[in-house]
Amino acid sequence: MPAAYKIHEHTFDMVVVGAGGAGLRATFGLAQKGLKTACITKVFPTRSHTVAAQGGVAAALANMGEDSWRYHFFDTVKGSDWLGDQDAIEYMCKEAIPAIIELEHYGVPFSRTEDGKIYQRPFGGMTTKFGEGPPAQRTCAAADRTGHAILHTLYQQSLAHDAQFFIEYFALDLIMDADGACRGVLALDLSTGELHLFRAQGTVLATGGYGRAYFSATSAHTCTGDGGGMVLRAGLAMQDMEFVQFHPTGIYGAGCLITEGVRGEGGILRNSNGERFMERYAPSVKDLAPRDMVSRSMTIEIREGRGVGEHKDHILLDLTHLGPEVIHEKLPGIAESARIFAGVDVEKEPIPVIPTVHYNMGGIPTNYHGEVVQLRNGNPDEVVPGLFAIGEAACVSVHGANRLGSNSLLDLVVFGRAVANRAAEIVKPNGAQQPLAGDACDEALARLDKLRNSNGGTPTAVIRDKMQRTMQADAAVFRTGETLSDGVRKIREIHASFADVKVTDRSLVWNSDLIETYELSNLLGQALATIVSAENRTESRGAHAREDFPDRDDTNWLKHTLCSVSEDGTTSIDYRPVHMYTLTSDVDVVPPKKRVY
Ligand SMILES: Cc1cc2nc3c(=O)[nH]c(=O)nc-3n(C[C@H](O)[C@H](O)[C@H](O)COP(=O)(O)OP(=O)(O)OC[C@H]3O[C@@H](n4cnc5c(N)ncnc54)[C@H](O)[C@@H]3O)c2cc1C
Repeated sequence: MPAAYKIHEHTFDMVVVGAGGAGLRATFGLAQKGLKTACITKVFPTRSHTVAAQGGVAAALANMGEDSWRYHFFDTVKGSDWLGDQDAIEYMCKEAIPAIIELEHYGVPFSRTEDGKIYQRPFGGMTTKFGEGPPAQRTCAAADRTGHAILHTLYQQSLAHDAQFFIEYFALDLIMDADGACRGVLALDLSTGELHLFRAQGTVLATGGYGRAYFSATSAHTCTGDGGGMVLRAGLAMQDMEFVQFHPTGIYGAGCLITEGVRGEGGILRNSNGERFMERYAPSVKDLAPRDMVSRSMTIEIREGRGVGEHKDHILLDLTHLGPEVIHEKLPGIAESARIFAGVDVEKEPIPVIPTVHYNMGGIPTNYHGEVVQLRNGNPDEVVPGLFAIGEAACVSVHGANRLGSNSLLDLVVFGRAVANRAAEIVKPNGAQQPLAGDACDEALARLDKLRNSNGGTPTAVIRDKMQRTMQADAAVFRTGETLSDGVRKIREIHASFADVKVTDRSLVWNSDLIETYELSNLLGQALATIVSAENRTESRGAHAREDFPDRDDTNWLKHTLCSVSEDGTTSIDYRPVHMYTLTSDVDVVPPKKRVY
């Protein structure tokens, strides 16, 4: 073991890594249950990507028309293209209602209806009467800054409870014991360069998505999937990584998001002929079809020569007909983003948009309690002791092959809360913890030492750029066997080239070079898992659209992919069954059928 590193040791009942919506909801929930809880975060809590969420959070409150959590359940199963686990979806849609009312009571400043109820807007794929009725107004919004409102409220609640924050600490690796249980996490205090070992009865990964594996993404530069990277290094498998959501409306060129709420408020997509082309692809819901369908339709329009602009390579989002009042009241942030990033006055001109990487349906496999599960000894649901995952880092799986807009903010609060409830059952406040083996941190330390002293020929940024461009080109909206196998070959080479990485800064204080290198290695493992899983799945389902296998194949592929990646880039694939059963008899299983809107 490298002797030079001194480690500060802390003992908590629970440690949460991440202070986005999921991490904060878990943190104060755990503290509320009387558990001694730490929350570690690499960015200041209110800078987490959740702050950027615009459109809203789904719950069938029926404030603005008929609705039921059973309709929400049906829509989510159908939206997932039947890859979502129906027990977990039932749990989420039912719990949505108390979870949102609770947020209201905590102080989230939701927009209001005339009679003072929480304002709700339509969102893609959200319908009534089990898909037979008109679009549901189900997405609770605080103008177009819902994530901001929620995150600030959750942070205030966290401060009101007795949780301890470790801000600008970067989690390096999980500490696993010989029996395969998680015993805590090793982190680096970015401002002092000192190492901290957090021992805990339970470790919760709430580290967000890995959107930055791609070149153009709506997610923040900090969305590097560090939790997934740590999980892969611990020898555990990730689930359904081939399912990457492209949001239809990223601003052309800049990549920043224009919320689906714009279409919820009546915005329309148009091609170069000025045609509202979504009428041809989804005659009943049109522009409010789910994201995978809209992104594919836009891509087809562009390919067939009906794109706009000099290169005919994007589409227009028109909200000129909405009028200044709706824009000022409901979409002020969008008007500002369009002005700054596209130079467009949305009251007078349409916004140039293009499908942009937005969300990872795949992640660390868990059950609906947030406990990490793995396939072991023939049991597909075996819990990894001491390890939990929530939020975008996790794959419960409630989103299956395609997430519906406004179901992610919901997932954060529902499963953040679920972890606290579960921990209250299984974790003993101030419970004794077995001693750690003397060499428990050696592997993590050796890795730190190696990365810090990397002296190869390729800067981190060069490897990252190659990875991002390859993923963008070869694991795109439409995929073929050819682009995927080419992509797998290239990503394997890029993954291997990490052995030649060059880190120039050898210090430990505010060493962004070293941290970006850690983040790159986390991204690389997940990029590889994504493209290998995509090549392996020879069907089209949700966001995974294979041109060589255009149909969904329930006979062979109604199952979750598990993919593990070892340090040397060896990948292995396995499967878990989809839970085609509900949790209670309150709602019926939705059997697979053709997914049309
Ligand atoms: C622009 C945009 C708009 C969106 N709009 C909506 C919407 O309207 N409705 C909706 O439902 N969904 C929306 N989404 C999706 C949703 O916002 C995200 O999926 C969700 O916010 C992710 O939350 P999280 O808590 O899982 O992670 P994040 O909010 O990404 O937080 C991750 C946390 O982990 C910490 N962390 C990460 N790695 C480490 C490490 N190594 N060490 C220590 N800490 C670490 C970070 O500091 C951070 O606190 C949007 C997403 C984007 C990008």
